[in-house]
Amino acid sequence: MKTRLVFLGPPGAGKGTQALIMAGKFSFARIATGDILREAIANESELGLKAKEFMRSGLLVPDEVVNEILREKLSSTDNGFIIDGYPRTIEQADFLQKIASIEMVIYFDAPEELLVQRIVNRRVCPRCNAVYNSVENPPKVENRCDNDGTELVHRIDDVEDVTRERLKTFWQKTAPLVDYYFSRDLLAKISAGKQLEEVTAEIEIAIGAI
Ligand SMILES: [Zn+2]
Repeated sequence: MKTRLVFLGPPGAGKGTQALIMAGKFSFARIATGDILREAIANESELGLKAKEFMRSGLLVPDEVVNEILREKLSSTDNGFIIDGYPRTIEQADFLQKIASIEMVIYFDAPEELLVQRIVNRRVCPRCNAVYNSVENPPKVENRCDNDGTELVHRIDDVEDVTRERLKTFWQKTAPLVDYYFSRDLLAKISAGKQLEEVTAEIEIAIGAI
């Protein structure tokens, strides 16, 4: 079974949700650069202040900021990991090759309109980072996290115009990584437009867990 994984795909494809599910099932460390950056922003740390302006406008946070986070997090994983939201550029992928031996990259494939739909309807738990969707994956109690009852929030960048900008950035900068990993024989493509449980099962098959 493959245990050193990268989840690659456009925003809204369900990478974060699946990473939480898989991390819970197999005790993988989940390394989500987006969540780490958002926490830094909320705490107004030095890193957070740097990242803030880039994220608000739908742009990528500069490599030196994100690479440092990743190096630090990877040094403390020994039971396997899922990197979610990284790499986003070829340069970052080259950096990752140097600091970790990735066994498989799961590519979450989904049509653009579905992604926009999912993101604008997305609500997240500020405490545990669980992700909900008022249409496909609603919480059991309206606007409350299933795990801890915390009130869900609508992220400031989860609106349509910023979403379209993020998708544009994704197609330009990140989509070339599909070829990058395919040519290294590391890529497994899954259909991320399906139901939550079906997507989980596809990932489990891909990594050899079932
Ligand atoms: Zn929660």
